[in-house]
Amino acid sequence: MNTDLSLSPQGTALRERLSAFLDEHFFPVEAELDAEMDALDGPEPFGPLMSELRKRARDAGLWNLFLADPALGHGLSNVDYGHLCELLGRGMWAPMVTNGNFPDTGNMEILHDHATPEQRARWLTPLFEGSIRSCFAMTEPEVASSDPTGIQTMARRAGDDWIINGHKWFISNAAGAQLCVVLACSDPGADPHLRGTMFLVPMDTPGLEIVRRIPIFGHAGGPGHAELRFHDVRVSADAVLGQPGAGFLIAQDRLGPGRIHHCMRSIGWAERAQELAVDRAATRAHQGGTLSKAQLVREMLARNRIDIDAARMLVLRAASTIDRHGKQAAYRDISIAKVHAARATQDVVDRAMQIHGALGLSDDLPLTKMWAMSRALRIGDGADEVHLMTIAKHELRRRGHDRG
Ligand SMILES: Cc1cc2nc3c(=O)[nH]c(=O)nc-3n(C[C@H](O)[C@H](O)[C@H](O)COP(=O)(O)OP(=O)(O)OC[C@H]3O[C@@H](n4cnc5c(N)ncnc54)[C@H](O)[C@@H]3O)c2cc1C
Repeated sequence: MNTDLSLSPQGTALRERLSAFLDEHFFPVEAELDAEMDALDGPEPFGPLMSELRKRARDAGLWNLFLADPALGHGLSNVDYGHLCELLGRGMWAPMVTNGNFPDTGNMEILHDHATPEQRARWLTPLFEGSIRSCFAMTEPEVASSDPTGIQTMARRAGDDWIINGHKWFISNAAGAQLCVVLACSDPGADPHLRGTMFLVPMDTPGLEIVRRIPIFGHAGGPGHAELRFHDVRVSADAVLGQPGAGFLIAQDRLGPGRIHHCMRSIGWAERAQELAVDRAATRAHQGGTLSKAQLVREMLARNRIDIDAARMLVLRAASTIDRHGKQAAYRDISIAKVHAARATQDVVDRAMQIHGALGLSDDLPLTKMWAMSRALRIGDGADEVHLMTIAKHELRRRGHDRG
C-alpha cells in the first residue's frame, strides 16, 4: 500500500489561510453565532452574523472548498479536503461559514452529478452561491430506515405531475431551507433497488408541513432535525432528479465522501476536546500539584492521543482510496473509518469531560455539544452495525466465503 496521506502544497496553503481566517473572524464570535443559530426559525436561511461571516469567507476565497470539480471549487483531493475538514470541525458552525455544511454539500454533489440544466439553474447555482439552504429527507418513523428500500413515502403519477404522501423525521437543517431533496417510493412493484425516486421539492410547496423540531439531548433550536409530513404534495415532472427509479443509486452516491467529511470534522472536535483536557489537567490545582500528575489522568490523555491519531489515519486512508480508486472501491475503508472515528471521538470527548469534573458536563464548555454530535454520528449516515456488516462481508469474501 503506497498511500500518501499528507497535504499537497495547494492544500497546505489553503489550510494556513483557513486557519488564519477562523482565528480572526470565527472563534472570537463563536458564542454569539451559537446564540444566533439557536434562534434561527426560518424562513430566512441565515442570521445577520452568519451572513456577514459567509460574505467574508467568500471574499477571502474560502468558499465551496469541498467541490472536487476545479471548474467550480478548488479541485482539492479528498485527502486535502479531509485535512481542511478537521480544521472546520473545531467550530460547530465553521463548515457553514465556508458553505461546506451538511446536508447542503451532499445535495450539491448529487445535483452536480444528476440535475438537468434547468434544475441546476434553479437549485444548484443558488446553493453554490450560498443564497439558499437545503435538506435531505430519507428517514421515516414507521420503518427501519437503515434499509431505505423499505421506505413508505409514496409518489404517484397524476398526469405529468407527481403527488407525494408520507412521513419523514430527523431531517437536519429543514427550518430555513428552501429545498427538500426527498426519497420516495414511486414503483412499489419494482425490484427493491429500483423502487425509489429522488424529488426536488420546494419547502413552500402546499402540503409540505414541518410538524416539529425533534429535540436531541434536550436541544431543539436552530435549523434542527425536523419531522416532516407530505400531504398530497404536488410537483411537476421536472422535480425528478435523475430518472424515476434511480433514487437509491443517487442516495448511495451521496454518502461516499460525505461520510468522510463528517468523520474528519469529528476529529477536529476531538482535537479541541483534547486541548481543553490537557490544559485543564496541567492547570487544575490538586494535592499540592496539578491533576496532570495523577497517573490515571495521564492515561486518559494518552488514550485520547491514540484514538485521535488512529481515527485520522483511517479517515485519510479512506479519502485516499476514494481519490485513487473511486467511491465504490472505498466502501470498506469508508465503513471502517466511520465506525472508528465516531466511537473514538465520543470516547475522547467523554474522557475530556471526566477530566473537567462537573464543569465538563456544563454548557460553559463545548464538550457537551461535541459529545452529543459524536453520539449522533454513531447512528447518522449509517448506524455502526450497518457498517460492521459491510466490513464483515468484505472479510468473508477475502477468504472466498460469502459470495452473496
Ligand atoms: C442527528 C441526526 C441527524 C440526522 N439527519 C438526517 C437527515 O438529514 N436526513 C435523513 O434522512 N436522516 C437523518 N438522520 C437519520 C439517520 O440517517 C437514521 O437514524 C439512520 O439511517 C438509522 O435509521 P433508523 O433511525 O430508522 O434506525 P433503524 O433502521 O430502525 O435501526 C435501529 C438500530 O438497529 C440496528 N440495525 C439496523 N440495521 C442493522 C443491520 N443491518 N444489522 C445489525 N443491526 C442493525 C442498529 O443498531 C440501529 O441503530 C439523522 C439522524 C440523527 C441522529
